[in-house]
Amino acid sequence: MLCFPGTLFGNPWAEVAGPADGPPLAIGTTNNGCISGAASLPTEGDGFLVMHLERKRYFGHPLLIRTIETLGERASESIGVIQVGDLSLARGGPMPFGHRSHQTGLDADIWFNLDPGRYAKADEWRANIPAPSLLNRAGKGLDRRLWSKQHARLLKLTATIPAIDRVFVNAHIKRELCRTTQGDRTWLRKLRPWYGHHDHFHIRLACPSDSPDCIRQDPVPPGDGCDSSLSWWFQEHPPSPIKPKAPKRPMPIACQAILDRGQLPRMR
Ligand SMILES: [Zn+2]
Repeated sequence: MLCFPGTLFGNPWAEVAGPADGPPLAIGTTNNGCISGAASLPTEGDGFLVMHLERKRYFGHPLLIRTIETLGERASESIGVIQVGDLSLARGGPMPFGHRSHQTGLDADIWFNLDPGRYAKADEWRANIPAPSLLNRAGKGLDRRLWSKQHARLLKLTATIPAIDRVFVNAHIKRELCRTTQGDRTWLRKLRPWYGHHDHFHIRLACPSDSPDCIRQDPVPPGDGCDSSLSWWFQEHPPSPIKPKAPKRPMPIACQAILDRGQLPRMR
């Protein structure tokens, strides 16, 4: 019998047989929610390749799937093949490891590694190749041997897709783009500095119009974000910036029904 890694941790969301039937519905917040009617991203397509297939985190709202396919198509014209990390589990919900968000089928990680590799299509390669960080060893700046204009171009391509609400990147990456972007700077607004995000960036969609129970994050503030909200990340904080812990909240009630729908008795 095949078991997901999550089985070991007793997480029922990682054990579901597949998406819950029905129309697409994202419910709750990206940090505390679920999705029914999720679609799956093909494991490869024009300009993209899905990594870590063994995690079975290639599900999302159909709008997210279309958005990644669009990004792949655009990337294939001028950049190459993008490597897609985690989306959501088949019914969303919390993951046994790796993320707090990604629960409603509206989030996806895209790796900064733009080298498709010799064995790019082999499942084993996809499961084991590390995502290299773009930061230098001290973590206090970009690694100039790795950071390239292609990364800047990919982030601009991403941020200009209307369905994408925000893009999380490491503050060093945002600062570099604030310093170097000439001409149109409006797309910088969607790039949000956040913890980590030096080996991948993270795209998040706003709540789709078909999902009335989806709770949207506050809109991104106006301006390009190259201001004190960015410099905060480079100040000393007592102690150094630590990702705040989210309070535990009960899941939306509708999520239990989505978890149970059409399920065989759970593997023990
Ligand atoms: Zn992510």
